[in-house]
Amino acid sequence: MIKIGIAGVPLALKGKGTAEGIKYLAAIGLDALEVQFVRRVSMKEATAVSVGEVAQEAKIDLSVHAPYGVNLASENQTTIAESIERIRLSIDRGRALGAKVVVFHSAYYSKKYTRKQTFEFVKEGCAALLEYMHDQGITEPRLGIELLGRQSQFGSVEEIRQLRGELPQLEPVIDFAHLQARCDGCLQNTDDYARVLRTLFTPGEHAHIHFSGIEFSKGNERRHLPVDINQFKVLADALLNNACDATIICESPRLEKDALRMKPLVK
Ligand SMILES: [Zn+2]
Repeated sequence: MIKIGIAGVPLALKGKGTAEGIKYLAAIGLDALEVQFVRRVSMKEATAVSVGEVAQEAKIDLSVHAPYGVNLASENQTTIAESIERIRLSIDRGRALGAKVVVFHSAYYSKKYTRKQTFEFVKEGCAALLEYMHDQGITEPRLGIELLGRQSQFGSVEEIRQLRGELPQLEPVIDFAHLQARCDGCLQNTDDYARVLRTLFTPGEHAHIHFSGIEFSKGNERRHLPVDINQFKVLADALLNNACDATIICESPRLEKDALRMKPLVK
């Protein structure tokens, strides 16, 4: 089954909060919402519990996006510690929400460290978070490392594949807009998408995916664009042909308007 959702509160309900947004998504026939902790984990524990109840009632799947200020491979040890703490708080809040996955941006390359060293720092940070989850008995949310869309950022398909080889509980989150930018437009046909899915997932495994149009140059994302529905159909076909179970979060500036155009293509 393929579910479609959006990142954050629907445009139609701007300023009204997550619980109202969830009810609205259910009413218009969508399936999922990714709660966005942009700068910090601002939602209180008690609020998260009640939002989670609303989602369960409305049959909307929740996920969480950790704050963007994260760098697990920083040259500064304090930044690394703060990054781990931000993701850890996102996991805690995700648990209170009943979220299925916590998505995070892992790291930037630096002048000081080689690619290999950066990889090791990211691995260390992820391992610490997985250990925390293990100690707390947290099986959901799962920990989702996102594929990133700039050359300066850790998180290519190959890096995430390798990392997962060493930390099997870590879940790859493919942002296909990021990948399209990072590989300078390499995603054209169904095979291109299917190859990425096969590289990162075992058959039958659930995939958490981000999708939107993207403006990019020289392997770097510039900004998210509305969904090109023909491009989305290519991804939808790749998922359907490979019997993939997936949740696709629409990150286009048109949010639910585009998600509603995507929905009929995954049935
Ligand atoms: Zn992201």
